[in-house]
Amino acid sequence: MVEQRISGPRSGPAPQPGPGHRPGSVIIVGAGIIGLTTAWELLEAGWDVTVCDPEPMSGASFAAAGMLAPASEVVWDQPTLYGLMVSAAQLWPLLAGRVAAGVGRPVGHLTTETLVCAGDAADRRALADLTGLQRRLGMDLEEISSATARQLEPALGPGVVGAVRIPDDHQVDPRRIMAAILEVLEQRGTVVRQQVSGLRRSGEARDSADAPDSADARDNADAGEARDGRRVVGVRLADGTTLAADEVLVAAGLASGGLDGLPEGLDLPLRPVWGDILRVRVPERLRPLVTRTVRGLVHGVPVYLVPREDGTLVIGATSREDGLAGPSVGGVHQLLRDAQRLVPGVLECEVLEVTARARPGTPDDVPLIGRVAPGLTVSTGYFRHGILLSALGARLGADLVAGREIEPETAAAVDPRRFARVMAR
Ligand SMILES: Cc1cc2nc3c(=O)[nH]c(=O)nc-3n(C[C@H](O)[C@H](O)[C@H](O)COP(=O)(O)OP(=O)(O)OC[C@H]3O[C@@H](n4cnc5c(N)ncnc54)[C@H](O)[C@@H]3O)c2cc1C
Repeated sequence: MVEQRISGPRSGPAPQPGPGHRPGSVIIVGAGIIGLTTAWELLEAGWDVTVCDPEPMSGASFAAAGMLAPASEVVWDQPTLYGLMVSAAQLWPLLAGRVAAGVGRPVGHLTTETLVCAGDAADRRALADLTGLQRRLGMDLEEISSATARQLEPALGPGVVGAVRIPDDHQVDPRRIMAAILEVLEQRGTVVRQQVSGLRRSGEARDSADAPDSADARDNADAGEARDGRRVVGVRLADGTTLAADEVLVAAGLASGGLDGLPEGLDLPLRPVWGDILRVRVPERLRPLVTRTVRGLVHGVPVYLVPREDGTLVIGATSREDGLAGPSVGGVHQLLRDAQRLVPGVLECEVLEVTARARPGTPDDVPLIGRVAPGLTVSTGYFRHGILLSALGARLGADLVAGREIEPETAAAVDPRRFARVMAR
């Protein structure tokens, strides 16, 4: 068996060591939005970062529309999630700006507002109820008539009976920002295009030629961890090779709970919630079809149209738990039916892509982020809001990897073991 050593911190941006570990080496399992944004934070802090993924950017993040929508994503009875979404939204301009500066080009972060439309009178009442909640939560919004909405977006259909303007709900193009971070990682870190089959623990057999590594040194410094062999000191790859590092962060989305070697009793309660989504090109003669994200309810069913700078539109998204891995005919039908009620011109667009991916859902829709064993952090379960929440999740993940405390209330809210505790009571 071959073992690759990941070396210590390399030159780069000034390290920002916390009271815990000095920057060392870290392996990140999964190159979706969570793995990549966390990799970015750790690179910036001076860590030697390796990301492993057989197909980077191919999971839920590949499908995502990229709405950064703390207000229009509010649903009833999710107080924990509201706070996380608002904090994450505040971090986005900084994250997007730093990554854009790092690659020398924009990454598709747009601060244009969102218009939430009602497809019929019942939808208008439902939106009005929600508007009351959003206002109580301190969110900025303005209810407008359908005539005013049509002045803003002349392509709105005659069926739209009212709308709400939300200035702080923005968007990013997930594929552009992920590609940018991956490019930086190829230069300043390491990208291993292989599946991780499991985690390596201290004390496990390795090549006798191996020199003691700094993970062992950490074990010796923390004899309690070393003696029972619990410390995670690297990963095993699908081809049988192993990689060693001081820290491992698991950000493999839905697959995170299936990794061999997770701590005993750690059950990550993830379930797939499939979403169908379309990408279409607006014909030159109709551009711009819409100038901001247009979303809404049509007969009680949510739908959105997110315009990109390149003249394409993202139309999404269904939410189904039927286990059908590819795009569903019924789902695509529903999206086109409802999108054309809000913006009839979508029927004149060219279909570029029909995609389905599974969101990593959790029982309370809040992610699972925590240090679950010495040397091991998990960051997954971002469900419907992983693009928005990644700006915050990346910081929390990087802090945990670095051995820094995170704010206790947040730590409890995202604790990966919180469901096990509830069941044990
Ligand atoms: C249709 C749709 C629309 C969405 N729209 C939005 C939106 O507008 N705004 C928003 O905030 N969120 C949105 N989401 C939710 C968001 O996409 C997810 O919450 C987010 O992408 C989860 O990111 P992730 O990095 O945890 O997982 P993923 O993106 O699934 O990444 C996991 C990665 O891990 C890799 N991996 C898996 N197993 C292994 C292994 N053993 N070894 C190595 N690598 C492995 C996979 O190849 C994959 O690349 C949407 C989701 C869907 C499906």
